[in-house]
This record gives sequence, C-alpha cells and structure tokens, in this order.
Amino acid sequence: MNGLLAGKTVLITGASRGIGRGIALKSAEQGADVAFTYRSSVEKAKILENELKSMGIKAKAYQSDAADFVQAQKTVEQVLVDFGKIDVLINNAGITKDTLLLRMSEEDFDRVINTNLKSVFNMTKAVIRSMMKQRKGSIINIGSVVGISGNAGQANYAASKAGIIGFSKSVAQELGSRNIRCNVVAPGFIETEMTAALDEKVLEDWKNRIPLRRTGKPEDVAGACVFLASDMSDYITGQVLVVDGGMLM
Ligand code: NDP
Repeated sequence: MNGLLAGKTVLITGASRGIGRGIALKSAEQGADVAFTYRSSVEKAKILENELKSMGIKAKAYQSDAADFVQAQKTVEQVLVDFGKIDVLINNAGITKDTLLLRMSEEDFDRVINTNLKSVFNMTKAVIRSMMKQRKGSIINIGSVVGISGNAGQANYAASKAGIIGFSKSVAQELGSRNIRCNVVAPGFIETEMTAALDEKVLEDWKNRIPLRRTGKPEDVAGACVFLASDMSDYITGQVLVVDGGMLM
C-alpha cells in the first residue's frame, strides 16, 4: 500500500457516522489499517468495515463505549491482538446535550463530560504503554472551536472540549521524550447528524460568518487528521489545529 499512512495502524473512536467515518475512509485511502469503535450503530459499522476492507487494507469494527474505562482498556487490548500495534489513536467519539445552564440537568452535564472528555483519558491511558514501547505514536483528539470560544447553550460541551485541550497539552509534555505526539483538531461547523437538526436560518447565519462561505465536510477534518497522523508532522505536538473555514480567527 502507498500513501502517507502506509504501514500504520490507526484506531478511531466513534467512526460509524459523521467525522469519524470520514477519518476512517481518508486514513484507508492513505494506506493505513483501520480499527474503529462505535457505540450503537451496528449496521453502519458493518457497512464501513466492509467498505474499508474493499479498499485493500485491514479493517475491523469494535462495539465499545469509549466513556467506560474497562471497555476502553479491553478494546485496546483486543486491537493490539488483532493488529499487532497501534501507531495512531484518534479520539473522535462525542455527543451533545445542548440547553441553557438554567435548564441543564446533572445528567446532561455528566453524560457529555464522560463521553467527550473522560473517553479521551480512558483511551489515551489504554494505548500509551504500547506506544512507549515502540517509541513512537501520534494521538489526535477531536475538540471543537467552542472549546476555545465557549457557546451559549453548550456549557457542558464547551467544557468537555476545553478540557481536551488542557489534557492534550499535558500528554504532549509528559510523553514528548518518548516520541509520542498529542494534538487537537478543533472543527468548526461540519455537516453531520450532530448538526443536521439546525434549521435553515441558523445554517445561513453560520455560513455568512465563515470566510470560506461554506460549512465543512467530514473530509475537511479528516485531511487535518491524516497530516497529524503522518510522519509529515513529526515535529508538531501540543497544538490545536482549527478546521473551520476561518470562522473563529
Ligand atoms: P455524529 O453524531 O455524527 O457521530 C458521533 C459518532 O460517535 C458516532 O459514530 C457514534 O457512534 C460515536 N459515539 C458516540 N458516543 C460514543 C461512545 N460513548 N463510545 C463510542 N462511540 C460513540 O458526530 P460528529 O461526527 O459530528 O462528531 C464527531 C466529533 O467531532 C465529536 O467529538 C464532536 O464533538 C466533534 N465536532 C463536531 C462538529 C460538527 O460540527 N459536527 C464540530 C466540532 C466538533 P454510534 O453511531 O454507534 O452512536
């Protein structure tokens, strides 16, 4: 296989749909073997697994809740058995439970923090031992522009994404001497099921605020991930790469 990721095994969380699916396909296009997780979309995961295999790479889907510490450890152990190594971890699994703070329940807060932030701890902790042994690794955490700017109605989500930035910079500092890099990709407005619920008017308003005058696609985020996963970014760690058509600058 040729490509920027030839010979690498990439593990992506939450790839049955949306951005994760886009990252899986672009990684395969660049020659990587792809292990990916999902929580509930069994059918969609199977379809993606087959699509990836048809591209001539090794691929496997794992049903695993990234927010669950034990499940995350077991999944990583299984991926290591099945693929022999993990070169790149992409923590992408995420959810929203948007509402104003006045109405936000404790459950809305905990579920978002556990799925978006604790999952990053769970999975990163599970992979670092094997990456330390091979003295190389790239960890990419999917944040969000709202983790930088904040957003009314998303206190839980923005907190989880801001937390990812602090976590990632700490990991970059702790593990840099082992040649393990850790970066954040912070997307802006990307068209997926997560953003599909917004009405036309809101969408139009968003587009007008974006210098490139279009919403993003999963492939736009995937391109940034492939770069950070590849050896082209060997000297880049602890960074937040914003992929938002210029919206936040
Ligand atoms: P989607 O809702 O389209 O897809 C979410 C994916 O995550 C699904 O594959 C889902 O699996 C999986 N998932 C959810 N919870 C878990 C869990 N506990 N364990 C394992 N997998 C899980 O979201 P997007 O593709 O839009 O978002 C992907 C990431 O990008 C998220 O972290 C999100 O916060 C971030 N992001 C998205 C933006 C956007 O505009 N769309 C903007 C900025 C950041 P299943 O299908 O089985 O439920």
